[in-house]
Amino acid sequence: MKNIALNTNTQDHPNFETGTVWLVGAGPGDPGLLTIRALYSLQVADTVIYDALVSKSILENVKPGATLEYAGKRGGKKSSKQPDITKRLIEEAQKGKRVVRLKGGDPFMFGRGGEEALALAAAKIPFVLIPGVTASVGGLASSGIPLTHRTTGSAVTFLTGHSAGGKLPNDLNWNAIASGAPTLIFYMAIAHLESIANKLLNQGIKGDTPTALIANATLKNQHIIVTSLEELVKDAEKEKIVAPAILVIGNIVELRRALDPNSSIEERYKAARKIISHWHQTPC
Ligand code: SAH
Repeated sequence: MKNIALNTNTQDHPNFETGTVWLVGAGPGDPGLLTIRALYSLQVADTVIYDALVSKSILENVKPGATLEYAGKRGGKKSSKQPDITKRLIEEAQKGKRVVRLKGGDPFMFGRGGEEALALAAAKIPFVLIPGVTASVGGLASSGIPLTHRTTGSAVTFLTGHSAGGKLPNDLNWNAIASGAPTLIFYMAIAHLESIANKLLNQGIKGDTPTALIANATLKNQHIIVTSLEELVKDAEKEKIVAPAILVIGNIVELRRALDPNSSIEERYKAARKIISHWHQTPC
């Protein structure tokens, strides 16, 4: 994998200048979902400052002698404060290093990438943003749930269940959320699962709305439960689902019956035929 033409061919990438920071998305977990440019950035960087949700095998791609620095923020482990992380990025860039700030998923999707980019801009440090496969996109793909579908999922709302203070964000309009897009996707929902479910039920989302919780998406220990909104909290407790997890609410989840990668071809066939024939009978 290390020798494929694209990742070593510098012509395919912007020049990684000394004294700059690349904010790089590491994808949802599975190292195979890292972009070629992210891999290239790791091979060139002098300093890599990485988050908790970045897989170990991804970090093995740094060049010999590069400095690896942990800046994770997960409960239980010693966590770095956001100002300390941005300070370190600025310090390393000012020393003339090529700095990679490696973040889970996509840096601009609920990952404080925007805050870090702003801090760099305010310090006059040049930076480059390298997108990554965000956890929901990776997680839905690896679970057999299409992100959108013309029949049942023409819009998606992405939300976070966690504000800067650790509470459910208080600037969310739950009425608009419940009556807006047919598919809701929550990041960081585990700590407030019950409040989220109750708020949506109170706003009129039906209790039997198909709901999935995907933990450790795309990794070997991926664990998914498919339930209904009203059973969500009970089932998540029963199955001992812990973070990181993505919560998906909407009829789109139903499609997994036919698209689950772990189902046999025969099971998929039967379920797919059933869904398609149902659509043919129901004008949409
Ligand atoms: N920037 C990241 C999100 C950071 S917020 C991205 O684009 O994916 C952290 C949250 O992302 C977690 O609480 C969880 O909701 C989600 N997440 C990240 N990796 C995940 C994984 N492998 N499986 C499920 N959820 C994940």
